[in-house]
Amino acid sequence: MWLMGRKWQKHLERSGFDPLHVDAGCYESHYWPHPPNYQKHGCMMDMAANTKAVVSVPVIGVGRLDKPEVAARAVADGMMDVVAIGRGFLADPQWADKVRSGRTKDIRPCVGCYDGCFGRYGKMQHISCALNPSSGRENAYRLEPAATPHQVMVIGGGVAGLEAARVAALRGHRVSLYEKKAVLGGLVRTAAVPEFKKDLRRLLVWYERQVEQTGVQVFLNSDVTPDIIRSASPGVVIVATGASPIVPDITGIHRGSVMSAVDLLKGKKTAGDRVVIVGGGLAGCEVAIWLADKGRQTIIVEMLPELMAGNNHVPGQVRMMALNLLEKHSTTIITDNQVSVAGTH
Ligand code: SF4
Repeated sequence: MWLMGRKWQKHLERSGFDPLHVDAGCYESHYWPHPPNYQKHGCMMDMAANTKAVVSVPVIGVGRLDKPEVAARAVADGMMDVVAIGRGFLADPQWADKVRSGRTKDIRPCVGCYDGCFGRYGKMQHISCALNPSSGRENAYRLEPAATPHQVMVIGGGVAGLEAARVAALRGHRVSLYEKKAVLGGLVRTAAVPEFKKDLRRLLVWYERQVEQTGVQVFLNSDVTPDIIRSASPGVVIVATGASPIVPDITGIHRGSVMSAVDLLKGKKTAGDRVVIVGGGLAGCEVAIWLADKGRQTIIVEMLPELMAGNNHVPGQVRMMALNLLEKHSTTIITDNQVSVAGTH
């Protein structure tokens, strides 16, 4: 395949194409031209480098090159002449300005989720970004200074609370953020545990930096009580305390060998060598991939006829690659079935 590609690269160059933009994949492997979080940053750099080795026209590379240090290294190492970045600019339209001015730590990272960009396009909605809702509607959602600055109290230091605090502070409000745990990030910190979700860790670092820079007062280990609210006397209270999981009514659900994905990811519980995952939505599938990466044998039981087919839409590229990873790990998949008894002890 590569030899055929090399022949064509030279042929294209001889035909006058200048430059060549190196990309990969087709509809059956949509996770190459549109690489989700399971693909590494710079996932197609080697293809660009192979092309550059056989042509003399400029070569453009693409594929999760939104991490500035990866893009810079690709050019510095002579793997490509130009980097093409798409989603990095949806997550942060000031990407280039921030790189140019050395403010790379202030770039809001694209986490490769596709929820707000291609995922919305797949639902015939206009493009946006899960992390940057003003993407595509910059004028409509432009942040204006508040006409009347308030004392704003945000309760909850997950990403919803962090974003509310950041935006309120940027608009000129005086903001206090209260988090009952010792760290910010909420459930996203747990979701970021698998290696293939590590961009979420970069997102939390970005948020911590942004709330600090915007002057948000952060109170950790602070369980907010009515007395605290009365004494702070805020003009506005924003409650961003998240939600509690629904525990299905299954016999044995409270046995010691049955655990939630959150407890498992947090390391509060440990899984054995063979693990049954009840629920084949994206969370269940990703837990299965994470466990299989660690050498566990995994079985997914899903009540619907297919995995990741519930109301919570999973973008096509993410779903396709997750299914391929499950297949690669020989995960047993049982659909159209419900679990009625869980756990052995
Ligand atoms: S929606 Fe997700 S994948 Fe798309 S640009 Fe935003 S962070 Fe990146």
